[in-house]
Amino acid sequence: MSNQGLSGNFGRLMAIQEIGRRTPRQFRDKKAGRISDYYGMNTFGYKKMKERLPERVYEKLRNTISHGERIDVSIATEVAGAVKEWAVENGATHFCHWFQPQTGLTAEKHDAFLTLTPEGQPMEKLSASQLIQGEPDASSFPSGGMRSTFEARGYTAWDPSSPMFLMEGPNGSTLCIPSVFISYTGHALDQKTPLLRSMEILNQKTLSILHMFGKKNAQRVVPTVGVEQEYFLIDRAFYLLRPDLQFAGRTLMGARPPKGQELEDHYFGSIESRVLGFMQESEYELFKLGIPVKTRHNEVAPGQFECAPIFEEANVAADHNQMMMEVFRKVAGLHNFTLLLHEKPFAGVNGSGKHNNWSLMDNEGNNLLEPGSTPQENLQFLVILCAVLKAVHNRAGLLRAAIASSGNDHRLGANEAPPAIISVFLGKQLSDILDSIESGQVKGETTEQNIINLGIAKLPEIAQDYTDRNRTSPFAFTGNKFEFRAVGSSSSISWPMCILNAAVAEALENMQEAISNRMKSGLDLQKASLEAIGEAIVETKTVRFEGNNYTDEWQVEAERRGLPNLRKTPEALDWLVRPESSEFFKKLGILDTEENEARYHVRLERYLKDIEIELEVLKDLAHTSVLPAAYKQQYMVAQSLKTYLEAAHSTGLPTHSVSFQSRMLEQITTLIGLLLERLSEMDKHVGEASHIDSMQEKAHFYAYQIMTSCAAVREACDKIEEIVDDQLWPLPKYHEMLFLE
Ligand code: ADP
Ligand code: MG
Repeated sequence: MSNQGLSGNFGRLMAIQEIGRRTPRQFRDKKAGRISDYYGMNTFGYKKMKERLPERVYEKLRNTISHGERIDVSIATEVAGAVKEWAVENGATHFCHWFQPQTGLTAEKHDAFLTLTPEGQPMEKLSASQLIQGEPDASSFPSGGMRSTFEARGYTAWDPSSPMFLMEGPNGSTLCIPSVFISYTGHALDQKTPLLRSMEILNQKTLSILHMFGKKNAQRVVPTVGVEQEYFLIDRAFYLLRPDLQFAGRTLMGARPPKGQELEDHYFGSIESRVLGFMQESEYELFKLGIPVKTRHNEVAPGQFECAPIFEEANVAADHNQMMMEVFRKVAGLHNFTLLLHEKPFAGVNGSGKHNNWSLMDNEGNNLLEPGSTPQENLQFLVILCAVLKAVHNRAGLLRAAIASSGNDHRLGANEAPPAIISVFLGKQLSDILDSIESGQVKGETTEQNIINLGIAKLPEIAQDYTDRNRTSPFAFTGNKFEFRAVGSSSSISWPMCILNAAVAEALENMQEAISNRMKSGLDLQKASLEAIGEAIVETKTVRFEGNNYTDEWQVEAERRGLPNLRKTPEALDWLVRPESSEFFKKLGILDTEENEARYHVRLERYLKDIEIELEVLKDLAHTSVLPAAYKQQYMVAQSLKTYLEAAHSTGLPTHSVSFQSRMLEQITTLIGLLLERLSEMDKHVGEASHIDSMQEKAHFYAYQIMTSCAAVREACDKIEEIVDDQLWPLPKYHEMLFLE
C-alpha cells in the first residue's frame, strides 16, 4: 500500500487484511495422549507427595491439607527437599510464593534455587523457611493504608491447602508455592486469608448442625465452588488499535453493530476453528496444572465464550480461577487473540459474569444442599437451605458490596444481567413446599406429620427438576447448589465467596440456636426444626423472588419490600463499613475493623482510579481520533459542495438538490459542536471533582455526574462514527471486533 492518501483507517485496513490470512494455531502433535495421562503433571499433588515423601511426613501433610490444619514445622524440611527435587527434575530453575494481593491479580517474586556451598560449589536448594515464609518487597501492593499503620512490610506464608505447581515459561519452569499475604501483626493483606477464615467458621457452624442431626462421622465441611467463566476474544490486531481496550479494558465508544445478538445464533453455536484452537490449547495447559475444566461453549454475544471447571473446595477453586484467567490470557496471545475479561467490554452487547456455583460438602462427600431420602435428612436439608435464605436476606447489602467494581456497574442492572438488587430464586416446587410449611405454621391446619409426608418426603423429586430455571436471578437454587450470578467476570471469587460463607455461617448459628432453644423447652428435634424452619421462611420472605428480575416492576416491588438497591459501586462499598457490617466481620473472625476499613479503602481507591483512567482515554480519543476524522468529513462535504456550486455557477447546472448536501454539512458541523460542548462540560465536572476532598464523596460524584458526562461525550462520538466516511475512521468498529468468523 502506498503512503499516498494514507488515511485514518490505514491501521484498520492492515489489521483486517492480516486477520483474513490467519489460520488456527497448531500447538502440538495431534496424536498426543489422553487427558488422564498428563492431567496434573505440573502439580505436586497427593500422588507425587506419596511417591516422594516418607510415609510419616506424607500422612502429616495429608492431614494438614484435608483437615485444614496448621502445618507441622517439623516436616517442612522434608517437604521442601522433595518438592524442590521434583521441580528441578521437571525443568524448574526458580521458585516463588504465589499470592493474591488486593489488585484482583496474582503476584509472584521469583528466587533461583541456586545456592553456593562454602567452597563455592553451585547447588539447588529450597529450605524449610523458604518454603514456609517469604518476604516480598510488597510496599507497592494496595493495602488501604494497612501496612503504614502497623509495619512497613508484609510476608507471605505457604498455604498447604492448595497444591504447589509448576508454571511453564518459554525457557524453563518456576515452582509456585500458593501463599497467603499478611502483615507482621497478622493482618490480612490479601484476598485469600479472609476466604480461609470464612471457610473455617463455616466448617464449625455447619458441623454443629450436622452433629445435632446425629451425623457422628462428620468431621469437616467445606464450601464447594464451580465457576462458570465468561469472556470475550477479539483479534489482537484490533486490540492494538484501541487505546480504550488497552487502558480501560472496555470500549469507551463505538456505534452499535448492524447485527447484534438479536439473532441469538451465537449461543451454543458451532465454535469457530481459531477459537476452538485457543480453547484446546488453554485446556491442555490447564489440565497439566490439574485444573479440571469441563465445559466450553459460545456465549450469547458474538465473540463471547464460557468455560466451566468441575467444582472444587472454595479456596482451590479460587486459586484455579485465577490461574485459568492467566492461562487464557497467555494462550490467547499465542493465537493472536486478546482476552477481554471486563464485565462490559462493548456497550449494548451482553456483558460477562462469573457464575459462582456454591454448595457445602462434608468429609464423606455428601452435598448438604442435596435433599436426602428420609424425612430426617430432608429436615436437615431444609435447615441448611433456610440458613442460606437467611444469609442472603440479612447480608444482601454485603453480598452486593462483595461484587462491586466499576466494571460490574456497567453490567448489573443492564437488561441482560442481574440487577443490583440481591434476591433469591428457589423454583416453583421448592417455593410451594416452603409456602405449605409456612401456612402450616401460621394457620395450624396442617399437622406436622402431613407436612412431612406431603412436602418434605417429596424433596428428592424436586431436586431432579432442572427445567424450572430462572436465568434472571442474581442468586438461584439450581437443584443441589446455589448459583451466585452477579459476580463480575474479571473479579477474584475470594471476596464474594468469603462473604457468602460468612453470612451462611452466621445464619447456621442462628438456626441452631432456634432449634436447640426449642429442644431445651421440650420439643423433639423434628418439631423444633420444623418450627425454626417455619420461622425462617416467614423472616426471609422478602428476599425470595421468582419473577423476572430484569423488569422495572421488580425494582418497584423490591423497594416496597425494603430490599437494598445499591445501584453503583460507591453505595455498595459504603455498606462494607456500616457499624453492623464491621461487627459482623469481627464477630465471625473474618476481618477486624482495621482490616475491613483497609479493604474498603482499597476498593474505593480502585474505583476512582478506574474512572480516572477512563476519563483520560476518552478525552484523548475524542480529541485525537474522533474530532480529526469529523473535521476531515466536514471539509470533504464542504469542499465537494463548494466545487459543485462553482461548476454550477459557470455551467448553469441546477442547484436545488444542493440543500440536502448542505444539510449533511450542517449535521456534521452540529455534531462537532456538540462533542466539543460535551467535552468542555466533562472538563467542568472533572474540575469540580478535584475540589472534593473526601474519597467517598468523590466516588459518589464520579458514579453519577462524571459517568453521565462521559456517556454524553460517548453519545456524540458514536453519532459521528455513524456518518463519517469509513475510510477516515481510525478505530476498529464493533462489528469488526465482534464477528470473528
Ligand atoms: P449449568 O446448567 O448452570 O451450566 P452445570 O451443572 O453445568 O450447570 O454446573 C455449572 C457449574 O456448577 C460447574 O462448574 C459444576 O462443577 C458446578 N457444580 C455442580 N455441582 C456443584 C456443587 N455441589 N458445588 C459447587 N459447584 C457445583
Ligand atoms: Mg449455570
